[in-house]
Amino acid sequence: MTSCIFCQIVSGEASARIIYRSDDVIAFHDIAPQAPTHILIVPVRHVVSLAELDARDTHLVGHMIITAADIARTEKLEAGYRLVISTGAQGGQTVGHLHVHLLGGRQMTWPPG
Ligand code: 5GP
Ligand code: ZN
Repeated sequence: MTSCIFCQIVSGEASARIIYRSDDVIAFHDIAPQAPTHILIVPVRHVVSLAELDARDTHLVGHMIITAADIARTEKLEAGYRLVISTGAQGGQTVGHLHVHLLGGRQMTWPPG
């Protein structure tokens, strides 16, 4: 059994509130939401972070971002939303499996923490 929590969610070994699944991308609600809508869009393949991707992954990253935009429409976030990709320790990444945060339903501020 993999020790990666997001791989466990992909395989069904760990539970999550999954709202979208395709051959290469899965989306589910964050366990500790930081906004009224907080969804994670995750590649099915174990990829640690953006830092290990290259041009061959353009389609995967595009699919993740377009999936986020589709979910934002479904979640009625027409007032706006924010996508976040924490990368590496200084980027605040705590789960070592690439993910896009989709945050919405409240006013975002700048700079982020
Ligand atoms: P990061 O800190 O890497 O940018 O984001 C990791 C996110 O994964 C956090 O927002 C955290 O709440 C979420 N998370 C961590 N463990 C789990 C889990 O077991 N299930 C779900 N649904 N989200 C998780
Ligand atoms: Zn993983």
